[in-house]
Amino acid sequence: MREAGFSTRAIHGARVPEVRQLPASVPIYQTATWRFETQEEYAEVLAFERPGHSYGRGFGNPTVEAFEAVMAELEGTEAAFGFSSGMSAIHAVALVLAGSAGHAVVSRELYGGSYALFSKVLPRYGIAVEEVDPHDIEEVRSALRGASFFYVETIANPLCTVADLEALAASCREADVPSVIDNTFASPWLCSPATIGYDFVVHSATKYIAGHSDVIAGVVCCSARDRSRVQGVAIDIGGAMQPFDAWLAIRGLQTLEVRQERQCHSAMALAEMLAGDRRVVAVHYPGLGSHPHHDRAAKLFRHNSFGGMLAVELSGGIDQAAAWCEALSTAWIGASLGGTHTLVTHPASTTHRQVPVSERTARGLSDGLVRISLGLENTEDLLDDFNQALQVVGAG
Ligand SMILES: *Cc1c(COP(=O)(O)O)cnc(C)c1O
Repeated sequence: MREAGFSTRAIHGARVPEVRQLPASVPIYQTATWRFETQEEYAEVLAFERPGHSYGRGFGNPTVEAFEAVMAELEGTEAAFGFSSGMSAIHAVALVLAGSAGHAVVSRELYGGSYALFSKVLPRYGIAVEEVDPHDIEEVRSALRGASFFYVETIANPLCTVADLEALAASCREADVPSVIDNTFASPWLCSPATIGYDFVVHSATKYIAGHSDVIAGVVCCSARDRSRVQGVAIDIGGAMQPFDAWLAIRGLQTLEVRQERQCHSAMALAEMLAGDRRVVAVHYPGLGSHPHHDRAAKLFRHNSFGGMLAVELSGGIDQAAAWCEALSTAWIGASLGGTHTLVTHPASTTHRQVPVSERTARGLSDGLVRISLGLENTEDLLDDFNQALQVVGAG
């Protein structure tokens, strides 16, 4: 018999190992497609009529499924579905819940990307979007009549406000409106909003969940029935999570608690230090007794902890705040949050530069506002760094 050619031997020579023993780390099933013995098996797996895997665009992958299982476990939901970004996760939920002529009611205090999705993209599908003040329950209640869904953040950008999340969920139940919450800033270590009545919990897993600023990923935690609906969106338009990204997120989750303990501790220490400084106009951190939502946050959040994010307003406006950020050395200027490195952003001179001042002010973004995401560096080193930067700019 003729020997197989070089390419055939190169392609078929590396057999997929059938390993009986379980490894400690979830393997990365880095494959886009799968083999079948028969056409019938292929057809049935594709139609979800029999267990198995078919294709990597949202039909399922073992590494991604392992991530989904641990997320459902931590958020206390029946199921979860992984996405290739937080935005693709939020977009999928919006598409599932609001058809054309739908009507979304969304909190006014939102991450900029979500604001862009709701204000620019959803209207193109014919979905009307109404912004509400999440701290005004009456306003929310009247907006909810006939709404397709309600959307809010556990800890909201940029002033770290915490709305009365239980009352909001209850209002949605009464009005029979599905509720969606972005739990990115809190992470499931602080709070599991499904346990207080939210139907969909979404995350940018890019942030605390994966935790090392090395992957973009997202997830929706919900009922098994709703999972099939968001999966349908990923199958039809793409955006499903990929195996290596799932592996990074699984690895990240294993240290979420120890990372959060350090980040929350450092955030509290920094908030206390800055609150006592005359060059600082305001410190927005729910862990401070002076924060308007401190008592509510203390009741909602576990571990007597309040998150790793805080916002600070310096006296002296745009230039002073920008100079303060530039005088930091342990903390870096950069987008994103929830990683190992402490990052600061100054919205007025970067992300919101083109937004008119009146609009910025309406969204709580004063010129001197700096947002800080605490990383895992030594707490004393961070306090020293922020303090020396204050000396440098001598704000006030
Ligand atoms: C980053 C972020 C998102 C978007 O997630 P990506 O992973 O960047 O797509 C959504 N919500 C919040 C609160 C975020 O911080």
